[in-house]
Amino acid sequence: MANTYPFEHIRAQPQEFALFKKVLPSISVAMPEFFRTMEIANKSIQQKNMFGNPLGIRQDLGFENALKVLLIACFNDGLLTDRDTAIKAIDIFRLLTLKWYAFGHKLDSCLYFGYFAYSCHAHAAALFNGHLKQSEFLAGGAKGRLHEPDIAQLLAPTHSNAWYKTSTGLGDKLHPIAIADADITKTGLPRPGYQVHFRHSNLFDLRAPTFIETDQVETPLIRDAKVIVSCPTCHQKCRGNLFKQIEITCPGCKTTWKQFTS
Ligand SMILES: [Zn+2]
Repeated sequence: MANTYPFEHIRAQPQEFALFKKVLPSISVAMPEFFRTMEIANKSIQQKNMFGNPLGIRQDLGFENALKVLLIACFNDGLLTDRDTAIKAIDIFRLLTLKWYAFGHKLDSCLYFGYFAYSCHAHAAALFNGHLKQSEFLAGGAKGRLHEPDIAQLLAPTHSNAWYKTSTGLGDKLHPIAIADADITKTGLPRPGYQVHFRHSNLFDLRAPTFIETDQVETPLIRDAKVIVSCPTCHQKCRGNLFKQIEITCPGCKTTWKQFTS
């Protein structure tokens, strides 16, 4: 089956690779092995038995070592610092994986990362929790956050915190990301929101976060053929005519965005 993954078309600018190697030297050295082990691990989970369960799962053994090496590199290069959480680390790994892919590396590796970070999220969080402190120690203590303007450009956010609800799922107001209801699970206290797992479609959109807080999701207010939604930038309430897809320009801050209303 030929899937097209939602992030598959993403390519980096030619000069970004040199920049990546310059500002993230330890990470650049660790990424090839990280990708190699994920590619093997993905091959092994693609082989399913008659019950649909993955075979050969033990082949992901090298992955955990590569993950640890990359974690240490993240502390060395200042992408992670002390008190960063497992969720933060997973998010950094997600951005690094997507960027490394955009440099022309293997899609299979990204699919394994998606399977690991989204579908097996609890396992991934536990693994990161177990290794975070140790990696910081091995890196010789936290070095403080790297404040390089180039990093903000290289690892720019791939999603916003302004999501909207439709009858079929969630959408990002500022980025072209749509996640179906079957690919998320609503969670209650202590952390109300949506766990993004992609277990239904297996589309693993690496641009999406692994978790979306309830207060980041707005259900559009629809009344008398009008729709009221809030601006993703300044939160001002904006009114528009009701169509299946609307384009709104905020009268306050002039942010323009598109969203679906059903
Ligand atoms: Zn606004």
